[in-house]
Amino acid sequence: MHPLAQLDQRFVWHPFTQMREWLQSEPIVIVAGKGAVLKDVYGRKYIDANASIWTNLHGHNHPKINTAIKRQLSKIAHSSALGLANEPASLLAAKLVAAANPQSAGGNPHLNKVFYSDDGSTAVEVALKLAYEFTRRTRGPKPEPRFLSLQNAYHGDTLGAVSLGHIDLFHKPFAGLLFKTDTVMAPYCYRCRFNRAKPERADAREYRKCKWECVDVLQRAFERQRKRGNSYAAFVFEPLIQGAAGMIAQPTGWLRRVTEIARGYGALLIADEVMTGFGRCGPAKTGIDNWQSTILFACHHEAVQPDFMCLAKGLTGGYLPMAATLTTQQVFDAFLGEYHQFKTFFHGHSYTANQLGAAAALASLEILQDPSSARARAALQQSLREQLQSLWALPNVGDIRQVGLIVGIELVRNWRTREPFNLRERAGWRVCQAMARRGVLTRPIGNVIVLMPPYCTTKPQIEKILDVLNKSISETLTC
Ligand code: PMP
Repeated sequence: MHPLAQLDQRFVWHPFTQMREWLQSEPIVIVAGKGAVLKDVYGRKYIDANASIWTNLHGHNHPKINTAIKRQLSKIAHSSALGLANEPASLLAAKLVAAANPQSAGGNPHLNKVFYSDDGSTAVEVALKLAYEFTRRTRGPKPEPRFLSLQNAYHGDTLGAVSLGHIDLFHKPFAGLLFKTDTVMAPYCYRCRFNRAKPERADAREYRKCKWECVDVLQRAFERQRKRGNSYAAFVFEPLIQGAAGMIAQPTGWLRRVTEIARGYGALLIADEVMTGFGRCGPAKTGIDNWQSTILFACHHEAVQPDFMCLAKGLTGGYLPMAATLTTQQVFDAFLGEYHQFKTFFHGHSYTANQLGAAAALASLEILQDPSSARARAALQQSLREQLQSLWALPNVGDIRQVGLIVGIELVRNWRTREPFNLRERAGWRVCQAMARRGVLTRPIGNVIVLMPPYCTTKPQIEKILDVLNKSISETLTC
């Protein structure tokens, strides 16, 4: 075993990993990357088909981001945001505000304040605390503000974010540490009890037969809570697609409908764009001929403007841990007061507004906002769509959900009945192991294979990813 792998196995505890299993075989040790390709310690190459857990946008070792970080490093790496401002964080805040308020979003509410933190969980944590305290200050301290989030929601692993989460496997063990939130039906067309369509060889959203009952269910949840005399303080959601829930894509129009209902009941909207932000949902809904380079956030595809927008993962192009929670003047003003009133938002992290991260984010945004990036993303979205078609020939593929540059492929025992694999069979995991042996890396979510390539991934690389996936499913699963 390579000495670095030995050190890892001796000392490192990996996230979301059964370490007993980890210790049974030699791990892949990554030492370099270029574009969409990662290289391990033996010189083997892999396509990074999930963009290093959904973070990388423009590829590894990007010359522009490298240069920006080096330039910043020659000045300073970090100084505290507690009591001090800094150059790249100020510039970045202005750019984020501009990007988060495109004309298509209608300009209302205007997101014009940026609170920096470190990762997706803390971005959500900040939105949660701000919404909680804002509600208490505007509605009065009692009854306690209450939050509504989606079935199977995942918003991170810190305790506030876990409280908003509803994936029992991850969240239930910590129930004793959490505060109570409510959950409501999320659209999952493929397995929706209201969908009367028989399975077809297409994305279930396209052939569903329903009357938007899921929206009625949500409306009733808001109404019930209003009758209890404590209308929801905030509605928390991932727009267009729920990631860790299993890449559950929402049918077009759902987001717009439910956010209008939430607003009607006076709830603040907290959009978790940690995965979906920064162009991940594609430059436009309708493909290559109709892309709009100005849309960087999922909400804006349905002209929804939230009160809080949580950003992380792709913010620095996948280079450094940094996050931002954007909110409105109205929320900001509720925390203003005389010193002795102690209305300050008492929250912050040591590395908040880190200069290296902000410099990387500025460079990443510049690349993203170049028209050539939008064109490349539109082309990539299209070639993914085309290449995915070959998978329908496989009887163990039940649903293929694509939102822009995000794909979830749901594996089933039998596509005609939608019968799932038992999670203990580890169908998704085994397929990903087979893919890794063929030089393509990704991680499954249960029985769902995730594809989320960096934006620089070439057409031949997409062809390779799909060829490898096709072979790996055929090799691993028998009907
Ligand atoms: N929100 C969403 C939608 C996520 O997908 C994730 C991470 N997968 C998080 C929050 C938490 O982000 P982080 O892992 O950076 O804390």
